[in-house]
Amino acid sequence: MKRSLHTEIQRIVLLLIGLLLFGYFNGHLLITLLLGCLGYIAWGFIKIQQIYRWLDNGARGLPPEATGVWGDMSDSLYRLHKRVLRSQHNLRSLTIRIQKITDALSDGILILDRNRALEWWNPCAEHLLSLQPGDRYQPIVNLVREPDFVEFIQRQEFGEAVEIRAPGSITRILACSAAAFGNDEVVLVVRDITRLRNLEEMRKEFVGNISHELRTPLTVISGYLENLTQLDDTLPKPVSRAMEQMGQQTKRMRSLADDLVMLSKLESLERHAGKKVAPLEPMLEQIVTDAEALSEGKHRITLHGGKGLALRGKRSQLHSAVSNLVFNAVRHNPEGCDIAIRVENNDTTLHIDVEDNGIGIDPTHLPRLTERFYRVDASRTSSSGGTGLGLAIVKHVMLRHEGSLEVDSTLGKGSVFSCRFPKSRVVG
Ligand code: ADP
Repeated sequence: MKRSLHTEIQRIVLLLIGLLLFGYFNGHLLITLLLGCLGYIAWGFIKIQQIYRWLDNGARGLPPEATGVWGDMSDSLYRLHKRVLRSQHNLRSLTIRIQKITDALSDGILILDRNRALEWWNPCAEHLLSLQPGDRYQPIVNLVREPDFVEFIQRQEFGEAVEIRAPGSITRILACSAAAFGNDEVVLVVRDITRLRNLEEMRKEFVGNISHELRTPLTVISGYLENLTQLDDTLPKPVSRAMEQMGQQTKRMRSLADDLVMLSKLESLERHAGKKVAPLEPMLEQIVTDAEALSEGKHRITLHGGKGLALRGKRSQLHSAVSNLVFNAVRHNPEGCDIAIRVENNDTTLHIDVEDNGIGIDPTHLPRLTERFYRVDASRTSSSGGTGLGLAIVKHVMLRHEGSLEVDSTLGKGSVFSCRFPKSRVVG
């Protein structure tokens, strides 16, 4: 540009010298200068017009021929135009590629604006949520009205995915997860999990049924074994020992079947336990009596608090949760340990804590403790007669009562298992 400007200045200077000489010799200096300048302006104007016309035609073809500053300007415009065209082409290819990718996805993807209205969606989302082209810019809650989804999408921060029934379908189950981006916009991902849920249902049903079916033969076997062990005196010693072991193992299998049936019931029941009132004191006193029988006087078991308090929920489930914790404290801790059941009713929650000063649990085990069949020490546990399902049952019961199970333990010092219930479930 600098060079072309230099050439242009040289051209103007030469033109002026020429005009001055010509005017000097023909005796009409001023008129010659004036006409020369006008000619130069007119030439410049023609060049500008040619460039404008070329631009008006969409800068198609080559730019108009010109030298000096005009030539340089039209060349720059031409190069700029080519660059814009190239990046436009790249953008278009990228958009087409992204569209092909989202079209090929088996998950529904939707973009919602800051008012949670639909901006864009891929074909799978259209299929899963039965969307129509006219639904663009409609608030999504007008189209998907499930209360869980409405609550989920109006949140500021999206946590875990929410499961809903697909609009207009009673069988299809969708998992919706979301993430915020840009100017408070949201990308919503919808996945069809019907097959997964059906398989899960089948598994639960199968485990529930088989455990239920096992109960009857096990009851019969343990009944016979009990009768036979009463003939202890008439039986040879090795046989009576074998009988005793068979009796113990049958009892364990029965407990296992009972716990599996309980777990499968908890999983298949309504999301939240009902709101029947279950008084705490008689329930906890009963648990203490049962735990004392299990302990055979080897542990000191005490109950603190709970007078006049009750919980809204299912009594049998609450009983099962707390008794699992207390029986665990008896079974997994050595003779002489203290076990305390404390009820604390504060402003926000009600805690039922089962505290012991026994062997404690290494912190590495705590995150997995409520998994089915997870055992801290398999050899010790099998001798303690546990099924490995106790804490899984407690966790499920707490979920159904909108509460949680918290575990705090120090190896060698003892553990506290705390059932925390929301205030909405507390009576008294
Ligand atoms: P189990 O039937 O084996 O008791 P649980 O699910 O009830 O199964 O408990 C899981 C594991 O947690 C137990 O195997 C045991 O190792 C540990 N545990 C539970 N309660 C206590 C406790 N109070 N003290 C020490 N360990 C415990």
